[in-house]
Amino acid sequence: MTVLPGSGGQGPLTAAQRLRQGANLVNGTTLLGLAVAVAARTDLAKGPRGLLIAGGYRWRLPFAGAFALGNVVLCRSTAGELLARRELLRHEERHCSQYAWCLGVPFLPLYLLAAGWSVLRTGNPGTANVFERHAGLAAGGYPAKGSLRHGSAPHEVRDPRLWGRRRRRTP
Ligand SMILES: [Zn+2]
Repeated sequence: MTVLPGSGGQGPLTAAQRLRQGANLVNGTTLLGLAVAVAARTDLAKGPRGLLIAGGYRWRLPFAGAFALGNVVLCRSTAGELLARRELLRHEERHCSQYAWCLGVPFLPLYLLAAGWSVLRTGNPGTANVFERHAGLAAGGYPAKGSLRHGSAPHEVRDPRLWGRRRRRTP
């Protein structure tokens, strides 16, 4: 593990950051994150605010540039590149806090439920996902509005250009 220059990795933690760090250690999710980070042969670095950054993640799943497991943020870029993307790192950090609030592993099924709900409602896993909304949609790369046109049927039905065509939902 390396301490990246300018990461604030050695700065004192606030009480809330220390609480999150302790909670995610006790609930096992940080250890899970470390196990995945080691198994996936990532480069571990000490990040700011009690986070650990695992750069160079190459496994296919999940389909994300970065994701959190406990206090570990795994990313496909290098750790240094993630640290430079402050908004994305803040976004992932909020997910780290969400693990603590959910008492650890229950975050994962709850997140999947919220993502499934969001896909049904908006056509993507983030826009109506309570966890992504809290973490910040724009920073996570999600649109503020979904692509499914709910409530637009009356207009579409009235529009003569659509007559005779099957209405299709945009993915
Ligand atoms: Zn997110």
